[in-house]
Amino acid sequence: MLETLSEVQSLDLQRDALAVERGEVPTELLAARERRETLRRDLAKVQQEHEALRRRVASNELDLKTLQERRKDASEAALRATTSKEMAQYQNQELQFTTRAQELEEDTLPLMEELEGIAAAMAELEEQLAAMTPELEALEAAERERLTVIDTRDADLADRRARLCNEVEAGLLRQYEQVRRARRGLALVGLEGGKRCGGCHVQLPIHVLQKVRRGAGVTRCPSCGRLLVQPTED
Ligand SMILES: [Zn+2]
Repeated sequence: MLETLSEVQSLDLQRDALAVERGEVPTELLAARERRETLRRDLAKVQQEHEALRRRVASNELDLKTLQERRKDASEAALRATTSKEMAQYQNQELQFTTRAQELEEDTLPLMEELEGIAAAMAELEEQLAAMTPELEALEAAERERLTVIDTRDADLADRRARLCNEVEAGLLRQYEQVRRARRGLALVGLEGGKRCGGCHVQLPIHVLQKVRRGAGVTRCPSCGRLLVQPTED
């Protein structure tokens, strides 16, 4: 019974090791994911800047169009003016609109240049992202493959474990699982030097040692609660 349980434990330890292995994502992949995230963040930031600036430029262009229309209206009104005073008023208006339109154009020009610079930065980041994609995809595919292999191995171990567990008495299995959870790993241990617990290394009392040696039922370490098995020479 304990021998079968010992096999169960061996499978459990292999599964523990697999779980650790599963979590060990290759550093190359982690670095590539990190780099992509950085590029994406940078790109999102630049895209926002681009959009904000594009709106400002569009708004200026709309204002400019309005000013030009008003200037045209003033110019036409000046031609239709009946008095010289009225004509001077419209001409004055036309001049004001012209000046404001010029100022706005001057203000907008650097914004448009800035917009071009941001668009170039955006294209550069998009290019960098596109350039790294094949490598990252290859690394991700390798990672999926790695995990599939581990999962297949684990499923096989789980299968073997389930079959073995059918042969172990339910109460004993329960005790084993409780101790394994509590001790995070080994639940079943041998005797160390023939007299100490193989788990917590405490020196075992004579009556406990005798019980273990007789192999009569399940004996637990009074200190750590692990299940003790027949002494092994070590
Ligand atoms: Zn112990």
